Order: sequence, then C-alpha cells, then structure tokens
Amino acid sequence: MIFQLPIPDLKKPPAFKFPERCVSCGKPKEEMLGISLNMGVQIRNKPVTLEMKVPMCKACAEKERGVAKVTLVPFLIAGLIVGAVVFVPVTLLAPEGTSPQTLNTPFVLGGAAGLFAGILGGTMVEAIVKTLAIPFYGRLVTRRPLTVLAMFSEADQLIGISVKFLRDKKLVQLEFENEDIAREFSKLNQLETP
Ligand SMILES: [Zn+2]
Repeated sequence: MIFQLPIPDLKKPPAFKFPERCVSCGKPKEEMLGISLNMGVQIRNKPVTLEMKVPMCKACAEKERGVAKVTLVPFLIAGLIVGAVVFVPVTLLAPEGTSPQTLNTPFVLGGAAGLFAGILGGTMVEAIVKTLAIPFYGRLVTRRPLTVLAMFSEADQLIGISVKFLRDKKLVQLEFENEDIAREFSKLNQLETP
C-alpha cells in the first residue's frame, strides 16, 4: 500500500505516527529503527531532515541489519572478482608506451576497464541476489537502489517499509509491505485511504 503525503513546508517536515508494532510482520514492537530523508533545505547552515522512528520486532530488526548481505556484499565481491578478471588481461595486452609519459598506459587502460566491468558485474550480481532474497527479506528489498546508485538516491528503506522523497512535488511517498500496518498508519495519521 502506497501513501503520498504532502510536505507543505520543507523546513518543518511533519512527524508521522506509526502503529506500536513491527512495521514488517506486525509482532509487538521491540526496537525502533530510524529512517531519515534530507529535505534539501537548511536552517542556520544545518540540513533539515525528516526523521521517522519505525517500530520493529527483534527478528525483523536483525534481518534489517543483515540486509547488506544481499546488497552491498554481493556487489563488492562480484565487483572485485569481475574487475580483477578484466584488469589483468587488459593490462597485459595493452600496448606499452614508449615514452615515459605513456609507460603507464596499460595500467591506466586496465584499471579503467576493470573498474567499469567491476561496477557492471557487481550491479548485475546484486540485482540477482536481491531477487533471490525476496522470500526472506520481502518484496520491498528489490526496491532498494543498487549500491552504485544509493548515494544519489532520495530514498530510505527498512524491511517492510520504503520511503521516498519527491522533491519537486514536495511529497513523501511511503510504501508498506504489510497491509494491516498500512491501514493502522493511515488511521493514526488521519489520512484518506488511497
Ligand atoms: Zn517483525
């Protein structure tokens, strides 16, 4: 279930209320995990963020802390392997420069090719691992931006919830995996059910 919530004043982002149980599985709340989105504005040179405290049970919180296993880790491992596999032959095969300025050409070429192939290979493997992880982490795990793109993203996720800031529309988009929690959230915050 998806909600789009307007933020009329980016300098005063609203506080949303969450049901007092795990946002993912609905069990009693045992921990609070944070989501924060940069609003892209500043007050007294400090960036304004929208902070959410999301209730979770212990099991889901543990899963969330382990989610790097299916995102960052496969990306890095596959990226390194693919990068190395490409770097070595390209470096060996590239024509060696004759002048001191071009002596390093093979390494530069090999490095560039290895980096490019590593990012590409890592991204592909990460996408596959995420898809395989759906039964364990839920459907929203595939919504997480790929590691390469995460640093540019205006979104934040936890297991069972995905939050995105649509800056030009001044909207925050919340997506819940658990329909019951979504309905309770809607009531708590007096939203119209979509
Ligand atoms: Zn849970």
